[in-house]
Amino acid sequence: MTEISRRGLLLVMSSPSGAGKTTLSRRLLAADAGITMSVSVTTRQPRPGEVNGKDYHFITHEEFGRLRDRDDLLEYAEVFGNFYGTPKRPVMEALQAGRDVLFDIDWQGTQQLAQAMEGDLVRIFILPPTAEELRERLIRRAQDSSSTVAKRMAKAADEISHWPEYDYVIVNEDINAAGAQIDAILTAERLKRHRRVGLTQFVRDLTKGL
Ligand code: 5GP
Repeated sequence: MTEISRRGLLLVMSSPSGAGKTTLSRRLLAADAGITMSVSVTTRQPRPGEVNGKDYHFITHEEFGRLRDRDDLLEYAEVFGNFYGTPKRPVMEALQAGRDVLFDIDWQGTQQLAQAMEGDLVRIFILPPTAEELRERLIRRAQDSSSTVAKRMAKAADEISHWPEYDYVIVNEDINAAGAQIDAILTAERLKRHRRVGLTQFVRDLTKGL
């Protein structure tokens, strides 16, 4: 099949916790070899089971400060007293090589990324179908006390208020249907003319034969 080279894209998926984003991200990464996860740096301590270099690059505050001051981070944020940031170089290399990068960052990170990389960015917001469903998912997920669930519901309301800043909004009622919608978005976005840097040459060669 004819391969027309293209620039990669940056896919951001944001959602309140409990809307199914992690499952949808895993599904996409397993099924699609053209996209890889951006691994953030963070100053927080690893949780049990987390792998350095896979879940995060765990670094010290001093290292974080150095990366930020050298402009080596595409965006960064402070969340619950810890610093998080996206290393710039792997993203730039992926874009050049025509590979896509998936980001699990919140609306603040998405806004910063949009400022730095607007033309490369595709933003998807994932919503739960109902408030009851979200509450049930949060209760099911954690052995949280009811006050923690209430706190998370309030945080979810805040996160959800940012839905108009995204290019696509998916209501995750059925994981397979939501996954298929994400696949469709990715297929269409990869075909956008401005990403397909090989088109000019392709059409030049094509028209030579006409
Ligand atoms: P956690 O500590 O639970 O892994 O992540 C806490 C929060 O930090 C999540 O909302 C997550 O989306 C956000 N986060 C993780 N990495 C980054 C990053 O590189 N940049 C930004 N802006 N947020 C991040």
